[in-house]
Amino acid sequence: MNQIAHHMPDALLASYAAGNLPHPYALVVAAHISLCVECRAGFEAHQAAGGAVLETVDTVDVSDALKSDVMALLDTPTVPKPTFERAGVYPGPVMEALRGKQPRWRSLGLGVRQSILAGGSEGSVRLLYIPPGQAVPDHGHNGLELTLVLQGSFSDETGRFGVGDLEVADQDLQHTPIADAGEACICLAATDAPLRFTSLVPRILQPLFGI
Ligand code: ZN
Ligand code: ZN
Repeated sequence: MNQIAHHMPDALLASYAAGNLPHPYALVVAAHISLCVECRAGFEAHQAAGGAVLETVDTVDVSDALKSDVMALLDTPTVPKPTFERAGVYPGPVMEALRGKQPRWRSLGLGVRQSILAGGSEGSVRLLYIPPGQAVPDHGHNGLELTLVLQGSFSDETGRFGVGDLEVADQDLQHTPIADAGEACICLAATDAPLRFTSLVPRILQPLFGI
């Protein structure tokens, strides 16, 4: 595997370790940690720090009920966990979201396909399949977009992203990711708000595809 150059911002690792991230982002963080030794270490450090805080709380006479509430909160099954495993292209947390099945792809046109893993009021997370040399339509963002490369690579105005690399995009970034030549690019992408496409056709398609 190539060297991971674009990592998870520490603030996201910290809020993931604290269980504060909405599900779509938590899945991307869990998937990145599953692929990245460096961010795994950062995550474990935050976990240890969180545990230390809990232990301090412990000594200050906390009722058993509250303690088990807190522990239950930490173990919430809906929070994707890093597994440090990989089945083919998909890291463990993504396999779990797929329930062990292959993605159900839907065409977005021009060979671009998506498979929505989860969506709701707190945002959505999907797999994107981009054929080599193909661009994802130029778009801006209303919120935060996290994109993790699982296969192949893409390049945009900010640089090149290979397997394991994470791109963090917000409302200040208008970009056109283009899959590099060679293998098709498969990404895991999470957003908390609809993307803003600048060209007309994707804008018409947007309500249909929920992108
Ligand atoms: Zn990393
Ligand atoms: Zn974007």
